[in-house]
Amino acid sequence: MDYQIPLFNLNFDEKEANAATETIKSGWISTGPKCAELEQMFVDMFHVEYAVSMSNCTDALHLACLVCGIGAGDEVLCPSLTFAASANCIRYVGATPVFCDIVGSNHINIDPADIERKITAKTKGIVVVHMGGFPARMDEIMAIARKHNLKVIEDACHGPLSEYKGKKLGTIGDCAAFSFFSNKNISTGEGGMFISNNKEMAEKARLLRSHGMTTMSYQRAAGHATAYDIVELGYNFRLDDIRASIAIEQLKKLPADLEKRIEVRKCYVDGLSKIKGIVVPFADNTEFTSNYIMPVVLLDSTKEKRDHIRDCMHAAGIQTSVHYPAIHLFSIYKDGSWHLPQTEYVTDNEITLPMYAALTKDQVDFIVVTLKQALDE
Ligand SMILES: *Cc1c(COP(=O)(O)O)cnc(C)c1O
Repeated sequence: MDYQIPLFNLNFDEKEANAATETIKSGWISTGPKCAELEQMFVDMFHVEYAVSMSNCTDALHLACLVCGIGAGDEVLCPSLTFAASANCIRYVGATPVFCDIVGSNHINIDPADIERKITAKTKGIVVVHMGGFPARMDEIMAIARKHNLKVIEDACHGPLSEYKGKKLGTIGDCAAFSFFSNKNISTGEGGMFISNNKEMAEKARLLRSHGMTTMSYQRAAGHATAYDIVELGYNFRLDDIRASIAIEQLKKLPADLEKRIEVRKCYVDGLSKIKGIVVPFADNTEFTSNYIMPVVLLDSTKEKRDHIRDCMHAAGIQTSVHYPAIHLFSIYKDGSWHLPQTEYVTDNEITLPMYAALTKDQVDFIVVTLKQALDE
């Protein structure tokens, strides 16, 4: 079924198509000058020292774990209320994810108090997710990390250009990962970025991204190198120049796109504040944020009630989603004896409403009215 109002809408026009065409016509389509240009844009726009383009965010998170020195026998703390990749990356390197609860329905990011409770002698790091682009409690998290000598990896997929106390998300921990998957703020189909202020980590990520090879095809084609050595067991996690040229156009549009999303969220919050029985997470946020998604949490509700409300909204032509099905309840993670009451409540009672720059006030009003009717039924 085609929804009248989809969850997300690509902010594409002829600019992306032209950029891709130009790159195709240039004769160089794999990792090369467009990836380099995109990486420089990230360095400039995110106020970070190093950026390494990646095939997707999952691979960037995998390399983040590796460059943080995480490996077999280590434990890494992470939320369960996130996309599976935030925890899977920990397992790729042989370590064990230890799930922490979220603060609550008002703040659906990892709870620093639960981080502190779950630290053991084996704990090596923390994967922090900034849900919807709203910052996790980084001051507390970084203080805990310093005290226990833990690495902090920011899964900043939802938060390009979002800020925490004047710093861009992704520049606070040791390193961070962004995604350019189709429905993210920056869309290229597939793609991602690793960023860090740590030179060693960035250099290692760059090396591992391409088979641990000391020179790249582009450097050899350009006559800058004639041979290579393999010095690490690396991967092929490269982005190609076609996608990088699309990402460049998306990044140029991002600041204006985010300004519009702020207006959309304002319309939502105005309307939703008049409805009893729901909480808008991060309602007290005053920082600049990407508004990747528009989550609401039902109060005193159940999964059945939430699913019924979603059905009503779908019948009205409004697509909704759930962020997220909790990871610790998936088959491959179920065996842990996790006790995450806040996460379990939110995973059953959250609804993600449509969010994109082109949403009109009338559409937002229609969504809010439809939600209210469904709640009153
Ligand atoms: C989308 C997403 C990912 C995975 O990104 P890919 O680029 O698809 O690999 C990881 N973590 C979070 C929080 C995400 O939203």
